[in-house]
Formats: sequence, C-alpha cells, structure tokens
Amino acid sequence: MTLELDELRRTVRDFCDREIRPSARDRDRSEAYPAELLPGLAELGMLGAVIPEEFGGAGLDDAAYRVVIEELGAADSSIRSLVSVNLGLVGKSVLRWGTDEQKQRWLPGLAAGELGAFGLTEPGAGSNPSEMASRAVQGSDGWTIDGSKIFITNGTRGAVTMVFARAIVDGEDRGITCFLTPQDADGYSGQQIHGKLGLRSGDTAEIAMDGVVVGPDAVLGEVGGGMKVALSALDDGRFSLAAGAVGLAREALEVSLRYASEREQFGGPIAAKQLVQELLAAMHVDVQAASGLVDAVVVKKLAGERCTLEVSTAKLFATEASVRCADKAVQVHGGYGYIDEYPVQRLLRDARVTTLYEGTSQVQHLIIGRLLTGQNAF
Ligand SMILES: Cc1cc2nc3c(=O)[nH]c(=O)nc-3n(C[C@H](O)[C@H](O)[C@H](O)COP(=O)(O)OP(=O)(O)OC[C@H]3O[C@@H](n4cnc5c(N)ncnc54)[C@H](O)[C@@H]3O)c2cc1C
Repeated sequence: MTLELDELRRTVRDFCDREIRPSARDRDRSEAYPAELLPGLAELGMLGAVIPEEFGGAGLDDAAYRVVIEELGAADSSIRSLVSVNLGLVGKSVLRWGTDEQKQRWLPGLAAGELGAFGLTEPGAGSNPSEMASRAVQGSDGWTIDGSKIFITNGTRGAVTMVFARAIVDGEDRGITCFLTPQDADGYSGQQIHGKLGLRSGDTAEIAMDGVVVGPDAVLGEVGGGMKVALSALDDGRFSLAAGAVGLAREALEVSLRYASEREQFGGPIAAKQLVQELLAAMHVDVQAASGLVDAVVVKKLAGERCTLEVSTAKLFATEASVRCADKAVQVHGGYGYIDEYPVQRLLRDARVTTLYEGTSQVQHLIIGRLLTGQNAF
C-alpha cells in the first residue's frame, strides 16, 4: 500500500510539475481561472479521486485522497481548493446522503470537471450558519429558493451548488435543508469576488437566488436535516484542507531549503547560518507535526470511525502551521521573498485563508473545547 501511495504521489507531483507549477504565478497575477487544466486533472482522476468507479471516479480511499490533495496544495492552492470543495464537501456529501438518482445525476459530472459548490455562508451568517436567511418555500411541484450566499468556491463555474436554506412548508419553518441546485437554473446568478489576498485564480463568488425553482428530488438528506449534511461535509472538507495545508507548508520548506543552499552571504551559503537553520528547523517541525495529525485522521477514517475531534485538531494546527511556514519562507528568501520571482509570497497569501474558511481557527478551538469538556462555549 505504501508503495502504491508513493507511486501515486510521484504521478500527481509529475503532473503538478509539468502542468500546474510553471503557470501558477501568471494565474495568480492575472486572477485567471485554470479552465485549461481541468481536462487534464479529470483525465488523471483527480477531480473524481474519491468518487467510486461506477460513477466515473477513481475510487481512491482517504489515504490516497490525502496524497492527491497534499500534492495539489503544494503546487497551487487555488486548484487544491477547487478540488477540495468538489470532492471533500460536495462529492462525499452526495455519496453519503444522496439517493441513487442523485448519485447518478451528479457524481459522473463532478468527476469529469463539471464542478460542485458548497453554499453555506451568507453575508449575515458566517461562523454561525444557523442565522442564515435564505428560504426555500415548498410548492406543489418542488421548492422556490430565495436568498444570497457569499464567498462560494466554484460558485459560478460549476454545475451544481449545495444550497442551504430554511425549508418553509405550509408557512412553517422546518429548519435548514440542503438543496442540490443546478447553477444554470433560472434565477441563480453569481458574481466573481475580485481583489482577494490569495487563491486569486480560484472561482470565489457571491450568489443571488431569486425565485430559483428546484424539484422535490433536489433535497439532499432530509427536510430539516441540512445542518447534519453541512457538519458531515465540513468534517470531510476540513480533512482535505488540513492535507492541503501540509502540502503548502512542505512546499514552503522545500523551496526555502533550495534557496538557502544557493544564496551566499558573508562568504558562504545562508544555509550554514545558525539563525537561518533555526527558521528551517522550525518549519520542519511544523510540517512533521501537521502531517502526523493528518495521519491520525486517515487512520480513523480508514477504520470508518467518527473523527470530528481529530479533524478539527488537524485543521487547526495544519492551517496555522502553513501560515507560519510560508511566513518563515519569505524570511529565508529576504527581499526576493517579497516579490513573486519565487513562489513563497504566493504561498503566504494562499495560506492565509486556510485559518478562516471551513470554520475559523477560533471556531476550531471551540469545537475541540466542546468535545473535550462537553460544554458549549460558542
Ligand atoms: C476565499 C474564500 C472561500 C470560501 N469558500 C466558501 C465556500 O465554498 N462555501 C461557503 O459556504 N463558505 C466559504 N467561505 C466562507 C468562510 O467559510 C467564512 O468566511 C468563514 O466561515 C467565516 O465567516 P465570516 O467571514 O462571516 O466571519 P465571522 O463569522 O463574522 O467571524 C469574524 C471573526 O469573529 C470570530 N468569531 C465568530 N464567532 C466567534 C465566537 N463564537 N467566539 C470567538 N470568535 C468568534 C471569527 O473567528 C473571526 O475571527 C469562503 C471564504 C473565503 C475567504
């Protein structure tokens, strides 16, 4: 199995070296969406990594998925984010909660590059999604959704969005419910959010839903069961995010090691300076520790056990570690780290969002605290 994982890692890394890394700076500069890379990613099975083969995916387990995401996170976080949302949040949710018809309808497309989005956050409901205002009113032949979402990855260039909205049945609020909503439905519109610090080539959109009509078969899970769907999705999404953060932190270290051995000051390579080694050693410790926490999640996942505590622990540590490592990488590069001749400033900007989305670091502390003490401190 380890040999197979090593081979998978080499295959994904080769693809990243060939197709993704060389153009990452230009995409970052121009905020260009990586549309031309999607067919290659799909062909290699990365867009459908965890989707079973019967639905057109690669049928990988979570140990292999972690390798794919780690390598993408090292190469380009905008692409890692696109894949994490497509699979970690959407693909796995459809697999877990979907009917046979929903799986047949959506999974092959996700694997082929018709991406999925996860529409939970609203302008007035971020860390506390239960404050959401979007509504879906039940009618004779389905649901009519009105509301808005913000910061939605794959929100306009995908095929389907998991829209979370309050289900209103006979005038009564039946609770938050998830609706698999086609992005080409009448009344669904999205606008790109520009000027992001990082993930600059990713599709991050503000979504408006104005009388969007979906059929009764659009409900994923149960009416009123939307938070269950969202929380299970976030467990998978945060695992993916933690693995991506390990990749980013590792990349920051590898690039810094290379630079430190080539750059000479005071008559020798800066790698020979004790204070530079201190930076590199601290990065190494962060990468190893974060990787070990992701390993702990993989073990639990392969055993089919619930692992919210392990997931939040890994997400919290790995994302914070990725910011620390990228920041130290800029330091190792000196002034050259401040310009985009080297990838380290992009790594720092891309890392910064990982402590914010899919639950901020504060939210992860509160989840861990609640699981340890049984007390809710939100
Ligand atoms: C690039 C990008 C992509 C994203 N992609 C998606 C996506 O695909 N789908 C999606 O649904 N969302 C997405 N998001 C949204 C993201 O998940 C939210 O921004 C995040 O959950 C935080 O919500 P907020 O921005 O409203 O911040 P707020 O909830 O307003 O938080 C602001 C600050 O208050 C702190 N805070 C809040 N409550 C507490 C508390 N109880 N105790 C202590 N501190 C607290 C937070 O930690 C934070 O520091 C994305 C965001 C970005 C930037």
